[in-house]
Amino acid sequence: MIEKVIDWTWVEQEYQRIKFELETIEPLYKWSISPKGILKTTHKTKYGMADRQGNVHINQAFINTTSYELLEATIRHEFAHLCVGLQHGHDAVFKAKAQQFEAHFRSINKSQHQQISNNIGHKYELYASFKDGEELLLKKVQRKHKKYTQYKPTVFHYLTINGKKIVAFNYRDVVEKKF
Ligand SMILES: [Zn+2]
Repeated sequence: MIEKVIDWTWVEQEYQRIKFELETIEPLYKWSISPKGILKTTHKTKYGMADRQGNVHINQAFINTTSYELLEATIRHEFAHLCVGLQHGHDAVFKAKAQQFEAHFRSINKSQHQQISNNIGHKYELYASFKDGEELLLKKVQRKHKKYTQYKPTVFHYLTINGKKIVAFNYRDVVEKKF
């Protein structure tokens, strides 16, 4: 079975559908910030955001994924922010509203998070290790590079950091949690 992937039209349709549903739960005049529209974001760690003007920002990393439930929960979560007001952050008032708006992340399959991580997150951390066993995180990257995977220091040819000889480079998978 081929599962259809999310496109931006779908994101906009979901926004409208959910907004319509939530208006019946809490009439718009009672909302702290009136929903204005939906925008794309390229934020590096967030699925979505809500701003003072009433815009809901959805990460474009959702596009081409099958993270449908995660998208829906994110939109509901952002609507809850608009409804109670941004000053509440993620406090108890917000949480009660998010619950009422059914912004449930808990039961969502891990692969839905993984697909977004793959699109926006860094996949690997690159570490340099030294003779004394010390390790240093150099950077977070999207893909492995031959320069590091094929690094073979000799007595005369090697790389250093702060004068210390690097004996090996290691890539580690990054597991990031984003709510
Ligand atoms: Zn939030």
